[in-house]
Amino acid sequence: MNIILLGPPGAGKGTQARKLVDERDMVQLSTGDMLRAARSSGTEMGNKVAAIMDAGELVTDEIVIGLIEEQLTTTKAPGGFIFDGFPRTLGQADALGALLIKVGQTLDTVVEMAVDDAALVKRISGRFTCGSCGEVYHQDTKRPAKADACDECGANDFKHRADDNADALKVRLLEYYKKTSPLIGYYYAKDLLQSVDGLDSMDGVAASIKGALSTV
Ligand code: AMP
Repeated sequence: MNIILLGPPGAGKGTQARKLVDERDMVQLSTGDMLRAARSSGTEMGNKVAAIMDAGELVTDEIVIGLIEEQLTTTKAPGGFIFDGFPRTLGQADALGALLIKVGQTLDTVVEMAVDDAALVKRISGRFTCGSCGEVYHQDTKRPAKADACDECGANDFKHRADDNADALKVRLLEYYKKTSPLIGYYYAKDLLQSVDGLDSMDGVAASIKGALSTV
């Protein structure tokens, strides 16, 4: 099963994608993670996108489509792919459709994680992750049991994202409403859209997504 998790920054796409990876043998394709990896390994492309990402703007379609194409043609995913943070523009959505046809796959459903803007700002401002395994935490709602060790892997390497600040977040939200939210109508018209309440608890959202996937 190949699915898209669609929603604004901070909606919880990454957290839910990781749960699906653990439970269903799916492969998470997060263009945000791929771009951050390119930055930290200092590739030419990584250097090119760094300032754009820090400002909260979208990088070009060409770059992210190239990253997804590389993964789709080289990665085996027994449980299917979860597209997380991709597509973010209509051009990317069209390209994904064409790529899936090229590799003999189909898109089974798109799960929109609906959340309100005030809740997003709160969520994103307190967010941090384990630099070693990627587990996501929040200073108000999900602190690690021991302040200096990740619950999952024990590492003491917590990271706050450079773009998780109020100014960049506003740009990211604007980018979402201008360029990404039209995808809701796009996938609705293709009969692929399902919507879940992204403000529910983490387990509540996971249960709603499970319900959505069971209808496919
Ligand atoms: P994310 O981790 O998904 O929030 O992505 C972090 C940043 O990476 C975004 O604010 C963009 O600058 C860039 N990015 C990630 N995915 C895409 C995409 N599909 N299209 C354009 N830019 C992207």
